[in-house]
Amino acid sequence: TQSPVNVTVTGAAGQIGYALLFRIASGHLLGPDTPVKLRLLEIPQAVKAAEGTAMELDDCAFPLLAGIDIFDDAKQAFDGANVGLLVGARPRTKGMERGDLLEANGGIFKPQGEAINAGAADDIKILVVGNPANTNALIAQAHAPDVPAERFTAMTRLDHNRAISQLAAKLGVPVTEIKKLTIWGNHSATQYPDLFHAEVGGRNAAEAVGDQAWLENDFIPTVAKRGAAIIEARGASSAASAANAAIDHVHTWVNGTAEGDWTSMGIPSDGSYGVPEGIISSFPVTTKDGAYEIVQGLEIDDFSRARIDATVAELVEERDAVKGLGLI
Ligand code: NDP
Repeated sequence: TQSPVNVTVTGAAGQIGYALLFRIASGHLLGPDTPVKLRLLEIPQAVKAAEGTAMELDDCAFPLLAGIDIFDDAKQAFDGANVGLLVGARPRTKGMERGDLLEANGGIFKPQGEAINAGAADDIKILVVGNPANTNALIAQAHAPDVPAERFTAMTRLDHNRAISQLAAKLGVPVTEIKKLTIWGNHSATQYPDLFHAEVGGRNAAEAVGDQAWLENDFIPTVAKRGAAIIEARGASSAASAANAAIDHVHTWVNGTAEGDWTSMGIPSDGSYGVPEGIISSFPVTTKDGAYEIVQGLEIDDFSRARIDATVAELVEERDAVKGLGLI
């Protein structure tokens, strides 16, 4: 049997963490044959709550769960990590300026990047969920010079899944009929969910919809603002769907995309599609054997170009802001 994979989860006592840990321990992250050891990182005030979650994990007697360790120190938490799910972040609170938000997150993601650099396993794969996810991933990556940059990724899979669900509902087809959807850019309100390269039952999705007004005025804003709609309805932010998307992201990265399909991941740009090299932006990617590749050669029309440029401009601004603050 395989030796356990070390999975480090930060912000483990939070809402997303609570929905995420049970899925990891039951085998949904890495598959039904891979035992996992959980390494939970929390801030000191939340360690006790993380211990409570660990008690519940014990009580599930998950066959694949080979152990749980809890830390309030990043160096220890990332020691030997094969997979890192960076969920804990400093949320924007009322009256907080963007600079304050980026600075507070710099204080979290810089030491975590250093800890990953110092002690993570050679095959480490990082997914940043905590917002602003793309730029938090950039900060961590900048402080891990010995880790290949492409191991640092940011989550746009929830946006991707939301877009699939909205499109399937509009066309009255099962979600399994939808392929090649792309989220471009930042995990923020500027993100661009692209239907022009997506397929529905083998047919071009934008053509199948045949309604540019719906695409512009309904579909794109519904996907981009779904998080706020859920807070409005639930009285709390999305947690289970965010955890599910984190599971999907890593599972696809490790196990590969299906033939004839791709997924969306926030990854360090190599300059493809005019996205400045180095920023962490969402692209259409295929994955195989634990590595990913940007889908090349898509034709980008003027509408898509303008949307991609706008979301990428926001990422460049965030990058310049954290540079200005000395965080990268
Ligand atoms: P959640 O578990 O609900 O959210 C965690 C992070 O995920 C937030 O930054 C949130 O951003 C982000 N996020 C990304 N996508 C989504 C989405 N689709 N829906 C909702 N959230 C999303 O937050 P909690 O406050 O419940 O828990 C955070 C935990 O992290 C706390 O236990 C805290 O102690 C811990 N923490 C740990 C740190 C560490 O380990 N060093 C550092 C900082 C915090 P947004 O709020 O902008 O939506």
